Amino acid sequence: MAAQTENLKSIPKDEVAKHTKQGDLWVIVDSIVYDLSKFGAMHPGGIGVLLDPEVAGQDATTVFYGLHRSEILQKPQYQRLKIGIVEGQKPRIKPSLPGDISRVPYGEPTWLTPEYKSPYFKESHRALQKAMRIFVDELLYPDAQACEESGKRASKEVLQAMAENNLNRMRLGPGKHLHGHQLFGGAVKGEEFDYFHELVLNQEISRINARGYGDGLNAGMVIGLPPVWNFAKEPLRSKVLDEVFSGQKVISLAISEAFAGSDVAGLRTTATKSEDGKTWTINGTKKWITGGMHSDYFTVGAKTEGGLTVFLVPRGEGVETKQIKTSYSTTAGTAYITFDNVKVPAENMLGPEDGGLLVILSNFNHERWVMCCASARSSRTIVEECLKWGAQRFVFGKPLLAQAVIRHKLAAMIAKVEATQAWLEQITYQMCNMSYKEQSRNLAGQIAFLKMQSTRFAGEISDDAVQIFGGRAITRTGMGKFIEQFQRTQKFDAILGGAEDVLGDLGVRQA
Ligand SMILES: Cc1cc2nc3c(=O)[nH]c(=O)nc-3n(C[C@H](O)[C@H](O)[C@H](O)COP(=O)(O)OP(=O)(O)OC[C@H]3O[C@@H](n4cnc5c(N)ncnc54)[C@H](O)[C@@H]3O)c2cc1C
Repeated sequence: MAAQTENLKSIPKDEVAKHTKQGDLWVIVDSIVYDLSKFGAMHPGGIGVLLDPEVAGQDATTVFYGLHRSEILQKPQYQRLKIGIVEGQKPRIKPSLPGDISRVPYGEPTWLTPEYKSPYFKESHRALQKAMRIFVDELLYPDAQACEESGKRASKEVLQAMAENNLNRMRLGPGKHLHGHQLFGGAVKGEEFDYFHELVLNQEISRINARGYGDGLNAGMVIGLPPVWNFAKEPLRSKVLDEVFSGQKVISLAISEAFAGSDVAGLRTTATKSEDGKTWTINGTKKWITGGMHSDYFTVGAKTEGGLTVFLVPRGEGVETKQIKTSYSTTAGTAYITFDNVKVPAENMLGPEDGGLLVILSNFNHERWVMCCASARSSRTIVEECLKWGAQRFVFGKPLLAQAVIRHKLAAMIAKVEATQAWLEQITYQMCNMSYKEQSRNLAGQIAFLKMQSTRFAGEISDDAVQIFGGRAITRTGMGKFIEQFQRTQKFDAILGGAEDVLGDLGVRQA
């Protein structure tokens, strides 16, 4: 901030007080003097509020922060309005820069807060976190906010940068596919990469606060590529992995249908084998397929004579995708898919004929754990926003935080995010110390409960946040925009990847 104020001239406060009229209007916010003479007429809230005797020619810091996000003043059009700094004063508010750690209490998990220690996070986790935070702040966040609004897919620049930094590879979790690769310019070695590194990148990506964009950002790959990785035969396997990791091609998982969501075994899409056994013909529909609108490949579950089989289906003749409009943005590319006599070669079968249920189930733990990482981090951002707003917003002459009922809500919210993160880290540690098979046997129930709890807590946090923000919680721009986004989209996690009730039941049955 010092760099932004050092060239400003010093202006006495009583000089500012002389400029109080339309066409000659100065205002002080956090010691900086802004000339609003021309801007006044363009002020979104109207010129009237700027001519108020508490604002015009005055220190309007409290009034300003009772209504606006601090980032707004960093925009070039407002930076240009700065004409000086009040004589003898210094700005108190330090705007955050790309890569910064939040200074709001509970705004970061404890392992990122200097005062606290963690047994889990090592130097390479911290290096990856630093690199990811800058990547998200500088590149992902602005693109996410723009696309969430326009409904367009993530920009080419972002998709290319993700591939170049090997983010697509990392999102599949630890394994040989990372060995020998430079991850985020060397922040971590492929051989060292573990589930805590993956937790870091999942949680940093969630800071974009744009759920539809986040899902459109290759989330379909996280669930659609593992069946290819684990079950496809060479040379198909290497070809598809290379194409998807490098960002040339997009893949999604197409299991759910109008008649088969939780009940995967009830799906009705069929696959019929040709007499010579060389080709399969696929007919049917799929619903709610994340990233389906952008996909070149679909990992498809279909009914076969003796059960269920999974196929890799390239986009081509007979494949049609239509956008489903959900309560989040169309940037997610959520699709309704029709397969009309689609022919695929037998080599595209993933796993054994009639053995598809195992192929589908084998990835559920990882998918659910990824969702827990994201849900825990998004909930934390909401708590941070509420703490900031509680201090900024004045009602009945006091900040909101002066009301015991608001503090009580915050106490419950903080306890929920801290408990969820602690359990998530504990489960992540177990994942780091178990084979994939052991994870399936020992952690399916724990992860199911964690997901159930994360999404229930997210719902409760959302309700409290809406109450704390009032009308701003249902306004898509301004102070409450993150709350508005969260209350509209937090429920997605309670449905996808195993509905909340189904997971609770699964955990108890496993026990
Ligand atoms: C935005 C979005 C994106 C999605 N992305 C994908 C994707 O990429 N690929 C894909 O294949 N699918 C995807 N899905 C589908 C998702 O997996 C299903 O919506 C989910 O499995 C639930 O199925 P359903 O919606 O048909 O609900 P149903 O199966 O009809 O269930 C409705 C409700 O009934 C309750 N319930 C059902 N069964 C039980 C039970 N046994 N015990 C207790 N309660 C039960 C649950 O509360 C559940 O929420 C997506 C869905 C959405 C909304």
